[in-house]
Amino acid sequence: MPSGNVIRGARVGSAPTRPDERHQPAPRQNVTYWCRNHHQVDIRIAADAEPPTVWDCPRCGLPAGQDAQNPPGRVRAEPYKSHLAYVKERRTAEEGEALLNEALAALRRRRGE
Ligand SMILES: [Zn+2]
Repeated sequence: MPSGNVIRGARVGSAPTRPDERHQPAPRQNVTYWCRNHHQVDIRIAADAEPPTVWDCPRCGLPAGQDAQNPPGRVRAEPYKSHLAYVKERRTAEEGEALLNEALAALRRRRGE
């Protein structure tokens, strides 16, 4: 039957040609982290990748490090504050106004006003 020959011909041409590459997984390395709650976190990353210094513990959310005896502390103990928030902590609004006036005066002097 001619149709049988056509099917066999198609199968020969479409056979996978490089089975070795398909079955060998990329090389991996195991990296172990510990958080402050003594949770052990094992991750697998590509062998040629640089392991991150800190990994978030999936059990408690604390940052975990590769040194079991010295896990990292909380990265962010207090909520994020903008630069302006820190400035406002150090200076009152009146001080800010005085500084602004000083700066404006200096600017005007430079301009020769
Ligand atoms: Zn943990």
